[in-house]
Amino acid sequence: MTRPTAPIAYPPGVADEAPPPVDAAVLEAFAEVGVPFSVEPLTRAEHGRDWWPLSLASTLRGVVPHWPGVVVSPRSTAEVRDAIRVATRHGLSITAQGGRSGVVGGGVAPTGGVALDLTGLDRITGLDPISGTVSLEAGVFGPDLERVINAEGFTVGHFPQSFDLATVGGWLACRGAGQYSNRYGKVEDMVRGLTVVLASGDVVTLGGRGPRQAVGPDLVQLFVGSEGSLGVITEATLVMRPLPAYERRGAFSVSDFDAGMELCRSILQRDAHPAVLRLYDETESKRNFDLDHCVLIVIDEGEPLLVDAVMAVVSDAARDATVLEDDVVAHWLEHRNDVSPLSNLWAAGVVVDTIEVSGPWSTLGAIRAAALDALRAVESTLVASVHQSHAYVDGACLYFTFAGQPSGDPRDYYRAAWDAATFAVLDHGGSLSHHHGVGRNRSRFVHRALGDGFDVLRALKGALDPSDAMNPGVLGLGGEPW
Ligand SMILES: Cc1cc2nc3c(=O)[nH]c(=O)nc-3n(C[C@H](O)[C@H](O)[C@H](O)COP(=O)(O)OP(=O)(O)OC[C@H]3O[C@@H](n4cnc5c(N)ncnc54)[C@H](O)[C@@H]3O)c2cc1C
Repeated sequence: MTRPTAPIAYPPGVADEAPPPVDAAVLEAFAEVGVPFSVEPLTRAEHGRDWWPLSLASTLRGVVPHWPGVVVSPRSTAEVRDAIRVATRHGLSITAQGGRSGVVGGGVAPTGGVALDLTGLDRITGLDPISGTVSLEAGVFGPDLERVINAEGFTVGHFPQSFDLATVGGWLACRGAGQYSNRYGKVEDMVRGLTVVLASGDVVTLGGRGPRQAVGPDLVQLFVGSEGSLGVITEATLVMRPLPAYERRGAFSVSDFDAGMELCRSILQRDAHPAVLRLYDETESKRNFDLDHCVLIVIDEGEPLLVDAVMAVVSDAARDATVLEDDVVAHWLEHRNDVSPLSNLWAAGVVVDTIEVSGPWSTLGAIRAAALDALRAVESTLVASVHQSHAYVDGACLYFTFAGQPSGDPRDYYRAAWDAATFAVLDHGGSLSHHHGVGRNRSRFVHRALGDGFDVLRALKGALDPSDAMNPGVLGLGGEPW
């Protein structure tokens, strides 16, 4: 199946600017081990970008963000191993790529390096209906996974807004979250086992021996969120759930965002975890639903006895809120994956992006206020808004959207907006990212976000990838981020 790529096409003539590809000796080496590759300029241009807004802005100007020296397309773990061995022998960087739907520049292969297109690893290799697990290759896209396991009566329950665009390997490499994560968990909660190819070319198989173990630190989780910087994930085992036979919906409006957050907290802390619990501020409620007050969307699905109990807790907790018509939820479901307005805005010269962070309930109010104030104080900002997208017993994810129309270089405004919001979030005890990851965009903040922990990350990188071959520039590790 053909997958959609980035939303904006390169203008004609881009291929004429292509720098030379990797040396012929490298191509011969790939041919010798039988791994398919391409040095065709447009293919290289496509693999030199992802959905990071700065990448889209480059595309609009007809500038390829980076020109990988070659696009290599392995079809198995063994071919990934062979490709990595060839690349490292020739001193080339290796950037793992899935759907290239990342929004922080993590999948942009550095100029002259190897873009490792993993979408050829597209097989579902095993299904254990008794335990409820599925084993598969990293290049499988969400719809293909769900189609196969739905037919067997299961779902993984991971439905990011980029469901059509992203691969399982990309979900894992970024610690992604689906829109139903309150019930099914983030992807790190779903993974049970991994096969990873290291920079050395060694293939390691991790986990896969049941739901939990106590055999030292969790080596599976070491690679979940590593953004291609520690190794290439080639295979995974994920937990499945029975396909839900029952669903209930609710929509409410609340007087203000703080009241809505209190409502969400009380629902979660009464141990009710509706699959979807999303709270929009006034700006986003107006934009999405044409309603003046903050809108709370609730959906749960699964075992009827449990879903009814969860929704009973929701109704009780929300007794002071205004109940809205069910069509508000239907509207949300219908439009939830439509991001065309964002790319249209970029095309019209408006700088727009989203920033997702998380924090504990006790400080989320301060995080929200500080980040919105900081974004609005940046010259040329037109609007800054927020919704709460994923919620837990002890905290939640806040998802900010900002837009600005600078008269100067849009990249300066973009950087200033990210600096302002990120420092406000970190200063108030929030995390750097909840589910998009760090990529190249957030690399400059990682040291501050991790504190002393950054030395541990650096030591791990040094041990596993001493020559800094694996996706240099992401996670604040090695290489120029941009
Ligand atoms: C419109 C839109 C909506 C989005 N909504 C969501 C959302 O709801 N939730 C969410 O979590 N994210 C969302 N994203 C972000 C993005 O889709 C996710 O980060 C996704 O998981 C990336 O998967 P991918 O296959 O496209 O990875 P890519 O973009 O190709 O790569 C992302 C990073 O992972 C690394 N990587 C990819 N595959 C592997 C592998 N097999 N082994 C090692 N490293 C690898 C890359 O090197 C890169 O650093 C959205 C993006 C867009 C464009």
